[in-house]
Amino acid sequence: MSVDPIIVVPDIELAGGVAMPQLGLGVFQVPPEQTSALVFDGLGAGYRSIDTAAAYRNESGVGDAIARSNVDRAELFITTKLPNTEHGHAKALAQFERSLGQLGLDYLDLYLIHWPVPAFDLYVETWQALIEIAESGRARAIGVSNFNVDHLERIVAETGVVPAVNQVELHPGFAQAELREAHERLGIVTESWSPLAQADRRIFEHPAITGAAAAHDKTAAQVILRWHIQLGCVVIPKASSPQRQAENIDVFDFELTGEEMAAIEAIDVVGRIGGDPATFVTQPEDTDD
Ligand code: NDP
Repeated sequence: MSVDPIIVVPDIELAGGVAMPQLGLGVFQVPPEQTSALVFDGLGAGYRSIDTAAAYRNESGVGDAIARSNVDRAELFITTKLPNTEHGHAKALAQFERSLGQLGLDYLDLYLIHWPVPAFDLYVETWQALIEIAESGRARAIGVSNFNVDHLERIVAETGVVPAVNQVELHPGFAQAELREAHERLGIVTESWSPLAQADRRIFEHPAITGAAAAHDKTAAQVILRWHIQLGCVVIPKASSPQRQAENIDVFDFELTGEEMAAIEAIDVVGRIGGDPATFVTQPEDTDD
């Protein structure tokens, strides 16, 4: 049975023709025992795309919410990620099965390599395993996360397969213009993680944000998410309450002007919140919640 969502999120087309909702719900740092309820609320608010990771230790909560909801599987877009500990061909194939088991699903919509971990020098071999998973039909699309341009160019040169998305840190405090340009050149969709910069006050209270919010009768969070949407990025904000989930998905009825877009892009005050992909070895997400 299918339920009509309150707000319909537009799709963005990934290379290969798979349609991905441009806005989804992220569940990083959601305690495992709270994940099912939070995702269930999100599905009720109209979210159809959920972003989790094996390292978040809450895939089973996502799966539980999906099983409890009456949303058709075909209407959902479920992403999870291969943890840094499971790089390498055989380990990646085995980990994919474990994630499917945790989620209670028989296919994924998008499977990502969480970090390149260049220190291991296994990301090409790992990418080859994801290519085989996609060929088997058990992941509709495959991509990467936290890859720099040199990592992207290397996997494309060595395998001939371009990742559908690169999920990277991106928010008004760290706008990633150069990386976005490289994605456009390579045909990769940019997916912004920590799109709200984890609610950093330097951004939420910046005049470029508060000014646009007042002009459009929207909240700071809505203006920031709209900026990502108009850049052509996929966004996956995390929000704990149904009120904030509803607020964050309600960004498809207004448009920022060119001047507002440019002023937000120029904020650039925060820099990275998370790890540097060139050197990152362990998981910042791998906390004992
Ligand atoms: P976000 O930028 O989404 O910010 C989340 C924070 O903002 C939470 O503290 C939340 O509070 C708060 N918030 C949410 N909505 C509002 C609102 N409308 N007004 C005010 N505050 C708000 O940060 P995340 O780090 O969670 O990133 C989002 C997702 O990106 C993750 O959940 C994960 O899926 C993905 N991610 C991927 C990474 C990777 O390496 N690939 C790394 C980090 C994140 P509250 O929860 O209390 O509502």
